[in-house]
Amino acid sequence: MIKVRGLYKNFGALEVLKNINCDIEKGEVLCVIGPSGSGKSTFLRCINRLEEPTKGEIFIEGVLITDPKTDINAIRQKVGMVFQHFNLFPHKKVIENITLAPIKVKGLLPKTAEDIARDLLNRVGLADKGDSFPSQLSGGQQQRVAIARALAMSPDVMLFDEPTSALDPEMIKEVLDVMKQLAKDGMTMVVVTHEMGFAREVGDRVIFMDRGEIVEEGIPEDIFLNPQNPRTREFLGKIL
Ligand code: ADP
Ligand code: MG
Repeated sequence: MIKVRGLYKNFGALEVLKNINCDIEKGEVLCVIGPSGSGKSTFLRCINRLEEPTKGEIFIEGVLITDPKTDINAIRQKVGMVFQHFNLFPHKKVIENITLAPIKVKGLLPKTAEDIARDLLNRVGLADKGDSFPSQLSGGQQQRVAIARALAMSPDVMLFDEPTSALDPEMIKEVLDVMKQLAKDGMTMVVVTHEMGFAREVGDRVIFMDRGEIVEEGIPEDIFLNPQNPRTREFLGKIL
């Protein structure tokens, strides 16, 4: 579903991604772990072209999205993204947050978009929050709205950038549970996370990134119980 070949990203003289190669299968949950500053967010942001790669190719369902001629809006429809800091529109109700892009970008009728939004709110356990404003919700609820908002575009892939890092501990589970269900339903997901429990339980595969490179990759069991690379071992030693 996603094919990354020889991906490089520089910010000025800083080489943030160095020759990233990676394949993500349809329905797969790929977890990306690694120290702060290792390039995890930049990698995700290249996949939906929030960042322009310096070099290399990314294909999504066979379409070369790194081609400057590719329609960025079309890519963003295929690829949903959830950020650490929810990024909801504060002055819009929950329901409007979810229906805005489907109406504007996909051209759905407001009624259709709203039906879909109510369905999605139900799915993330927030059926009664459609008319609330984001500020009236807890962090965990806001993040679930952000997930519903991304799903409203019916993406083929969902990217999550540390979706629980800004949450109080008691809210982490409700967000991870929604993600777990999404994975069960067959969504293709790339998840940058420090939640090693989630990576072990839900991840089909784990990538360890350090200093802009994929240092090690494998099934969760191997990465967590039997890491081969000293840098992976050192990182896991610090956090587990
Ligand atoms: P991670 O998500 O693993 O913490 P990032 O991808 O956010 O890492 O950042 C990797 C490196 O790129 C860091 O050194 C960061 O400071 C740098 N960086 C990220 N975005 C920019 C930017 N827009 N301009 C300059 N440097 C950036
Ligand atoms: Mg990051």
